[in-house]
Amino acid sequence: GGGGAGPGTIAAIVTSLGGGPAAVGIVRLSGPDAAAVAGRYGVALDRDGGVIDEVLVVPMLAPRSYTREDVVELQCHGNDLCLRRVLRACLEAGARLADPAENVSRLISAKSAAAADSALAGIQGGFSALVKSLRSRCIELLTEIEARLDFEDELPPLDLTMLVSKINGMRQEVQDALDTANYDKLLQSGLQVAIIGRPNVGKSSLLNAWSKSERAIVTEIAGTTRDVVEANVSIHGIPITLLDTAGIRETDDIVEKIGEILSWKYSMLHSAYLYNGVERSEAAALGADLIIMTISAVDGWTEDDTKLIEHVLISKKSSGAPVPMVLVINKVDCAPFISGEQFEQFHGVFKKHVQTCAVTGKGISELEKAIIEVKGLEPVPSEGRRWTVNQRQFEQLLRTQQAFTRLESSINEQLPMDFWTIDLREAALALATISGEDISEEVLSSIFSKFCIGK
Ligand code: GDP
Ligand code: ZN
Repeated sequence: GGGGAGPGTIAAIVTSLGGGPAAVGIVRLSGPDAAAVAGRYGVALDRDGGVIDEVLVVPMLAPRSYTREDVVELQCHGNDLCLRRVLRACLEAGARLADPAENVSRLISAKSAAAADSALAGIQGGFSALVKSLRSRCIELLTEIEARLDFEDELPPLDLTMLVSKINGMRQEVQDALDTANYDKLLQSGLQVAIIGRPNVGKSSLLNAWSKSERAIVTEIAGTTRDVVEANVSIHGIPITLLDTAGIRETDDIVEKIGEILSWKYSMLHSAYLYNGVERSEAAALGADLIIMTISAVDGWTEDDTKLIEHVLISKKSSGAPVPMVLVINKVDCAPFISGEQFEQFHGVFKKHVQTCAVTGKGISELEKAIIEVKGLEPVPSEGRRWTVNQRQFEQLLRTQQAFTRLESSINEQLPMDFWTIDLREAALALATISGEDISEEVLSSIFSKFCIGK
């Protein structure tokens, strides 16, 4: 077997998982050892020589393949178990798992015309296969429940534990799909991170150290960053826009300006936040996906920090969706320890604490890690589960998810079964909308009545 350093020979499932038992599934190998890894034609053997599955082996050898390297396609039964076992046997025989980008570039857009097209359709089909499978499971459950409503006496009672675990499983699958879609969306649109805090705690320095650019103006005078300053960084390939939210629009005669603002804001608004920034920075902070509240280890937690955080919390409450917050304790080079007791009352507010020195950049990788964790941005699952979900599909997935959630609480609260069917129908309809199937409420009802009568 190959493997080891360099590109080697890669393997991946290129058709959709979750297909029906009758479907054909394809594992594709690409690279110098593709043929060797594929082993014996016609039968796939695992390491112990056990027959995994009847497999049709289709070699497309260089230079006739698109990749200009040997490609071997293993066509087996389309169920997930077979596909995974064939894939694992390939990995055991020396291939390495292709990452999603390779899936597309080396295995798919790759290569032998017709097969490539179908494989590509297969990956895109991964999402529709999931949606289809969920929908048919909904209909199955609906049939079960409606049958109980119609022929209660003739049927054994519903297995509630089974029902609840099935619904919970489906809700989880929809959640995974939403997570994948969210991650895809993030890769395109990125994450907005607002850095807030009193003047002079080191917001601009932090932004500068982070982006290693000079896009923000760093100065010793409090509050001189003009308006909202943006810088772009990336964490694990996710584009992050940092917003430094200090905001004084005019820089001429800074000191005088600051004096004016300080006295005006203090007397009018009693808010540390507002003397530091004007409304635009507040809007930026509130529109962000995540807020980094910066304090200085030198000053510790101050009265102004309390005012600032209270102000943000109130604004956040009125604007609806909660924005996660991370606390950065900066200037740890000057005062290495700051007691958590100082901001104890806000402990629950901050999902994470990170200590930084913006001058040296110390702590910034911890800060990046905290952001990834707080936003739940674990890398997307492999195995080619990479879909692009459009806005319409996303909304219907959410609708499905909400229906499942309601259904679970209807069952928990022991509401009548008619209630359950309403939510299950709602889920089935949302899923049907995604797959573009024209299933009206009426058609659904007739399917159900047919099923029920057949029982
Ligand atoms: P901002 O008003 O919150 O944006 O603060 P700045 O980024 O403008 O920083 C204010 C002052 O603190 C500048 O003199 C910085 O060089 C200094 N500073 C910022 N971060 C640190 C740090 O981690 N350690 C030390 N020693 N000084 C810092
Ligand atoms: Zn600044």
